[in-house]
Amino acid sequence: MHTIDRISQLRSHLWQAKLEHKKIAFVPTMGNLHEGHLQLIDRALEESDLVVASIFVNPLQFGPGEDFNGYPRTFMSDQEKLMSRGCHVLFAPSVGEMYPTTNLSLTLVSVPHLDSLLCGKSRPGHFTGVATVVTKLLGIVQPDVAIFGLKDYQQFLVIQQMTDDLCLPVNIIGAPIARAETGLALSSRNGYLSAEELDRAAQLYACLVSCRMALEAGETDLLKLEEVAQCKLETIGFKRDYFKICRQNDLQAPTLDDNQLVIVAAAYLGKARLIDNIRFTLTCRV
Ligand code: AMP
Repeated sequence: MHTIDRISQLRSHLWQAKLEHKKIAFVPTMGNLHEGHLQLIDRALEESDLVVASIFVNPLQFGPGEDFNGYPRTFMSDQEKLMSRGCHVLFAPSVGEMYPTTNLSLTLVSVPHLDSLLCGKSRPGHFTGVATVVTKLLGIVQPDVAIFGLKDYQQFLVIQQMTDDLCLPVNIIGAPIARAETGLALSSRNGYLSAEELDRAAQLYACLVSCRMALEAGETDLLKLEEVAQCKLETIGFKRDYFKICRQNDLQAPTLDDNQLVIVAAAYLGKARLIDNIRFTLTCRV
């Protein structure tokens, strides 16, 4: 595996592969890699001849008071994991390499109808930071496909919309959520939790599953279901952010005709803000 920290070096390295018409897959990450990230690498290997992963903790997507400085940085072990999983190139630029002029970007990319709700409401500017850095990374790597985890479902929709609207020549693929045996979605931020909090954290997924079962059993009062789940989470010790039943395609409240649904949730536990979701097709509506 080649590890590269300069944009110009990455471009010359990928030039030969492009001349040979090799298919390139790209997996952007912020590092502190776990099995969820590595399954994106597996998917990228299936989709391409050459896999490029990136590790970049993007300051632009962190708000004031968020965990940018404390975000876990485990570069050496990440490098090992990527290498043993078969990744071909690791791009790990510095903040100065990505944002040379001002430490931030002078050009911003935003997807207004998606980026101001749910996580965007709790983290103003977050998705603009994500869309901007992903646009830059796609411009640098110029992959044929890019793989994103469906764990960050709103992020996945933002990126799909952004690449469609800007006519970026890349196919965006969503990969399934990797979970611990307890059901807890794997996340770098799970490292902020104590062993006892980790046990409780699994209840976030349990609440998503119960809500889906209630919908499948014919419950139509969505606000009631959302409130029941929020109260349950609070009883367990979570601080509420949101718990919403939405349409899959635009994260709006579903009408009775919508059956492609996603239940999305975010909640604080100890020092961590956890997010998760469950997507499904509702077959029975009473
Ligand atoms: P991050 O390093 O948190 O920015 O995540 C990098 C990529 O890994 C994003 O596309 C995430 O959606 C994806 N990812 C993180 N956790 C998981 C997970 N548990 N399952 C699947 N994909 C994940």
